Amino acid sequence: MQQSFEPPGEHLQCYAAGSTAGSGGKGAVCSPVCGHPYAGLVSHLRTSWLSGRTRPMEYRVAQLEALGRFLDDKKEEILEATASDMGKPCFEAFFSEILLCKNELHQTLNNLGQWMKDEHVGKNLVTQLDSAFIRKEPYGVVLIIGPWNYPIHLLLVPLIGAIAAGNCVIVKPSEISKNTERLVAESLSCYLDNDCYAVVTGGVQETTKLLENKFDFIFFTGSPAVGRVVMSAAARHLTPVTLELGGKNPCYVSDSCHVQNAARRLAWGRFFNAGQTCIAPDYVLCSLEMQEKLMPALREAIAEFFGPNPQESPDFGRIVGDKQFRRVRALLGSGRVAMGGQTDEEERYIAPTVLADVLPSDPIMQEEVFGPILPIVVVANMDEAIDFINARPRPLAVYAFSSDSKVVNQVLERTSSGGFCGNDTLMHLTLTSLPFGGIGNSGLGKYHGKFTFDTFSHQRGCLHRNMGLEALNSPRYPPYSQQKLGLVTATFEIKRRGMCTIL
Ligand code: NAD
Repeated sequence: MQQSFEPPGEHLQCYAAGSTAGSGGKGAVCSPVCGHPYAGLVSHLRTSWLSGRTRPMEYRVAQLEALGRFLDDKKEEILEATASDMGKPCFEAFFSEILLCKNELHQTLNNLGQWMKDEHVGKNLVTQLDSAFIRKEPYGVVLIIGPWNYPIHLLLVPLIGAIAAGNCVIVKPSEISKNTERLVAESLSCYLDNDCYAVVTGGVQETTKLLENKFDFIFFTGSPAVGRVVMSAAARHLTPVTLELGGKNPCYVSDSCHVQNAARRLAWGRFFNAGQTCIAPDYVLCSLEMQEKLMPALREAIAEFFGPNPQESPDFGRIVGDKQFRRVRALLGSGRVAMGGQTDEEERYIAPTVLADVLPSDPIMQEEVFGPILPIVVVANMDEAIDFINARPRPLAVYAFSSDSKVVNQVLERTSSGGFCGNDTLMHLTLTSLPFGGIGNSGLGKYHGKFTFDTFSHQRGCLHRNMGLEALNSPRYPPYSQQKLGLVTATFEIKRRGMCTIL
């Protein structure tokens, strides 16, 4: 794995890596190309990919196992880095950055042989003696760009799938979570093959330059605004993309629900990682009566989780940076502060906060909260909640709480979102069996488990025909005749089920 690249300056700096898993300890050598600081790196990875080195299953397994060793060896450093970046509590960091990555890794290693296999498909009459199959092929050189909120998870989970599918990869961690960025840039190269995998560090300027290169696939996680930038850059090369974006995830709480349980599950989802979670419930929609019931229940849940003063709790995080802190703090002006509301700029602390009687026109309802603030918007009933959701861009997740499963199903059926979870928050993300991704404004494409492998694989449709049996082919060759047309129709036509077929 290449060690970190930090151009664009006058020259591209390339560092030979230390020990590697697959290249016998040799780092790649890239020569700077004027005006194209990453061109040498991309072309080096493309040469490796074309050599076929990443294709054998044994190679992929060795790299994935090396990634597992990275997670094991660097566990403490990962916990320290995410704590330094955003005060991420150890429990939350272990759960989200390590355990879920290991789950993805194990799921992949356990099933890779099966996933890689050719998929044999149905055939028509003329191809009965041939072989028709879908080959899962790597795209080639792929770029993975990550955000700062789960800086290991959101880089490594796609990386696992990209390696499993046989690609060469450049990962670009977020520059905002700088301690984790440094750890990834300095350490990953000691585990992975330097000729096939690289880390590029930097912010907007560097990523813009990086995106000028032709990649064979781009996997981006971040905001919808930057998603547009990435998709435009990809369009110049007709590069396919997956965009994992953000937005406002609504949570409808019906009048018939176990209020205390709903409050606990809501508070957990909203205040995990100090609210900096793409699928956090962004706002609650409920009746006035439910708002009154939820208040004491949420207060109790917050006190149960974080004690009387959450600022002193080791289990409550901080906002990642000053700019982000000021943005989130400004949202406290919406509605009425029902609990919380305290801030400490020096620590970038914002208390777990609930805002009541928030209006749709309030500033907090105009952008993704991405902080520990839960606004409640009062609606008359479920129909109004559904209309409210459907009048806005399609979110990454919709949540619905009700003891009546008909209500949960109604919300599911009459709304559209990337994912859905009834009677809880965030939990659908923990299942590698479910596709994870957005729709519309919240993204494009999906991953997790087999979906990640499929995302990074080109499904090549293949037909391998028999060289003989030419008589079977002659009806399709000129000179054409009515009789040949009849034969071609009979052998190629797909009939609607239930229609009479005479062959
Ligand atoms: P961001 O879009 O600002 O940055 C993401 C990445 O893009 C970073 O690596 C950054 O360096 C790079 N980048 C930023 N501006 C760029 C530009 N102009 N050109 C090229 N690259 C650029 O997002 P963020 O602030 O790191 O993360 C927060 C956002 O990400 C939220 O909207 C959140 O909902 C979303 N998110 C989505 C998911 C998901 O799985 N769908 C997960 C986490 C976060």
